[in-house]
Amino acid sequence: MASSNSHRNGGVGYTSSITSNGTKVITDRQQQQQLFSSLNSINPKSSTTSSSSLKPKSSLRRSSTGSIAGSATAKDESRGVRGRVRVAVRLRPRNAEEAVADADMPDCVELQPELKRLKLRRNNWDSDTFEFDEVLTEFASQKRVYEVVAKPVVEGVLDGYNGTVMAYGQTGTGKTYTLARLGEEDKSARGIMVRALEDILAEISPETDSVSISYLQLYMETIQDLLQPTNDRISIIEDPKTGDVSLPGATLVEIKDQKTFVDLLSLGEAHRFAANTKLNTESSRSHAILMVNVKRSIKGKDSALSVENGNASHAAKILKPPIVRRGKLVIVDLAGSERIDKSGSEGHTLEEAKSINLSLSALGKCINALAENSPHVPVRDSKLTRLLRDSFGGTARTSLIVTIGPSPQHRGETASTIMFGQRAMKVENMLKIKEEFDYKSLSRRLDIQLDKLIAENERQQKTFQDEIQRIASEAQKRIAEVESNCAGALESTEINEFKKLLQNETLLRRAAEEEISGLRNEVAQWKRLEAAKSSEILKLRKLLEDESQEKAKLEEEIAALQSQLLQLSYEADETRRNLDKGEMAKLSGDLDSLLPQSNHQSSRDFADGASMAKLFEQVGLQKILSLLEADDADVRIHAVKVVANLAAEESNQERIVEAGGLTSLLMLLRSSDDETIQRVAAGAIANLAMSETNQELIVSQGGLELLSTTAANANDPQTLRMVAGAIANLCGNDKLQMKLRGEGGIKALLGMVRCRHPDVLAQVARGIANFAKCESRAFTQGTKMGRSLLIEDGALPWIVQNANNEASPIRRHIELALCHLAQHEVNAKDMITARALWELVRISRDCSRDDIRNLAHKTLTHSPAFQVELRRLRIDYG
Ligand code: ADP
Ligand code: MG
Repeated sequence: MASSNSHRNGGVGYTSSITSNGTKVITDRQQQQQLFSSLNSINPKSSTTSSSSLKPKSSLRRSSTGSIAGSATAKDESRGVRGRVRVAVRLRPRNAEEAVADADMPDCVELQPELKRLKLRRNNWDSDTFEFDEVLTEFASQKRVYEVVAKPVVEGVLDGYNGTVMAYGQTGTGKTYTLARLGEEDKSARGIMVRALEDILAEISPETDSVSISYLQLYMETIQDLLQPTNDRISIIEDPKTGDVSLPGATLVEIKDQKTFVDLLSLGEAHRFAANTKLNTESSRSHAILMVNVKRSIKGKDSALSVENGNASHAAKILKPPIVRRGKLVIVDLAGSERIDKSGSEGHTLEEAKSINLSLSALGKCINALAENSPHVPVRDSKLTRLLRDSFGGTARTSLIVTIGPSPQHRGETASTIMFGQRAMKVENMLKIKEEFDYKSLSRRLDIQLDKLIAENERQQKTFQDEIQRIASEAQKRIAEVESNCAGALESTEINEFKKLLQNETLLRRAAEEEISGLRNEVAQWKRLEAAKSSEILKLRKLLEDESQEKAKLEEEIAALQSQLLQLSYEADETRRNLDKGEMAKLSGDLDSLLPQSNHQSSRDFADGASMAKLFEQVGLQKILSLLEADDADVRIHAVKVVANLAAEESNQERIVEAGGLTSLLMLLRSSDDETIQRVAAGAIANLAMSETNQELIVSQGGLELLSTTAANANDPQTLRMVAGAIANLCGNDKLQMKLRGEGGIKALLGMVRCRHPDVLAQVARGIANFAKCESRAFTQGTKMGRSLLIEDGALPWIVQNANNEASPIRRHIELALCHLAQHEVNAKDMITARALWELVRISRDCSRDDIRNLAHKTLTHSPAFQVELRRLRIDYG
């Protein structure tokens, strides 16, 4: 309603657009007005109805002449057109009560239906005349009332317009009679609701269209669902964009047939009665509202929307959604229009009374405002006016029927009802078709199309596969045929020859295969044998290694034995020489004893053996020995010479020692300062010292210390030669090694080299060689571990110095000593430091004695330390 004014006063200019929900809005006022006047539509200001403008449309069921709600032509259906609210007045016949009470009084109204006029009596002689769109006398049939009041509205709804049929009037004037009678017992009594639904159901196509209804009661500003009475707090929702109102909480029942509808209406009526009893009111105090929603799908060409899209492409046409029209018919049976305080209704407080009348008075105010073009229409003052927003001043085609009674007693109410109707006639609506694209339906349609296409595709695929199968089996058959043909052809002679060849080849191949497998077996056997052999080889290798280790050990032993043998042979030589010398000594001893003034030559030191033996027998050993202690120095000298001569004879030695000769000689050496005595005594001791037993005796009787002292003190080379010879003999005893060193024997021996006499040096060298040999033996036997005592006592520099001495006895002994020392790795480092290595190399190359040369060579090649040193010095030795 609120928008109505602006519509009517709207500016000039044509615009046409599709709103977001697809509803078309048309706003060209001028064009609309021209169209309107050309249609000779009802002039809103005029009360005269032009029946020519209300000609029924093509449909047979279309409203006939005399309808109050002008219907638009096909052309203006798509455009908004002015549509004034049509108002009819209906007079109820006098009821029984009135017939009695007003028997002698005329009706308060006089109707002139042909002039569509109503005269309201002021008094017996004066009346007011009112024009209406339709004036329905007390004789008007329900059918006629429907046709003139409601049918055009219903047709509009079927065409996609909203429509309203509303009854207004005092209680008891026939609102409900007009609208809601079911006419079950008397069909002609059917009211507008039933007839409207009949027309709607008859017109729609059940496949594409649908009808649904809600039935509501509004009482004291509360909307109650008459189809579901527990649902009594239904709220009104207004679309802020379009202003459309809806009642989402209301039960909406789809109507397929008339009976369902009639049953629902009577159910609603029963609920209304029950509800009102509960509320302690009458139905006359509440408003009943039937809402009928008609949704129709229409053919494209009939649509206003399709006209707009006339030049769309083919594809767009295919995808174009279908168009639907949604017309809503609202039939309102208002509460009684009489003022509540006059209604005689009891038990209501004033507040309740105000609330009961609120909607109706709000409706009156809105209609007044609209009629007067007031800038403000108080639509929001009540639920009723909100619900009827589209009916008055909106887009709906609206018919109002005002019902009046004939009784002069209610003249005032009747007058006010008439005035309401008169004002309502001034309200102009702007009819608009409710048309929109039905995207849901398009989606459904496309789904169906898609399903069809899929089914078609599957069918085609099946056909295709069947065809392939057919072709495949055909091909199989052909192949089989060809094969059987070929089999026949194989019988030819050429083929037979080939067969024979093939057989031959097969036989040959088999023979070859057998041969191959035989060879394979052989190879396998060979491999097994080879494996066995190689394991045997491994065993043998191991054995060989063991053997070679054994051999190396044996070779070492042999080397040791060889060195011992060498020593022995050398000793044998020595012994032989000594024996020769001994004889010479005996001889010279004899001479010496016979010639007291003998010189110091060795040949004279010893007496003649034969005369000595004679003396020995005559004087007796004991006597001779006692002479060693004689006071007379000369006697002592002679005596010692005799003993020395005797001692040179190996056969006498034992007897001399037994008789205490050794002890006496040692005592003499210790006590005498005489050089001759010392020389001869030392010589005798040296001779005795050739036997192992005597050697130990000499040492145990302090002979070593004595010999060392003599060695240190004596200057006579012959004395030193004897002392050195004695010590050298002791050096050959394995048991005396430690004592020799401990009691200074080695030092004493080395000290004697200060006398450069070759005889002395030869004895020293012999002693060193003897000592080295014993040490070597001890090493081999494992009784000695550390480095050589000779080296410890500092013998090495002299050894090296004299290794190449011109005198062959010296050189030979020293060469031998070096070889013994070199045998043992512990000495190697010292020997390298003392440059003994060079001497060994020389010995291994130049020594005239094969055995010594070979020993040196072997020693050099076997010693890792020497090898390393030789390599370091880049001496190619091997
Ligand atoms: P309202 O709904 O306006 O209160 P009703 O429709 O209930 O009035 O009518 C009151 C009484 O008048 C009912 O008994 C009804 O049958 C009767 N009546 C109303 N209009 C007519 C009419 N046109 N012809 C015969 N009886 C009528
Ligand atoms: Mg009623």
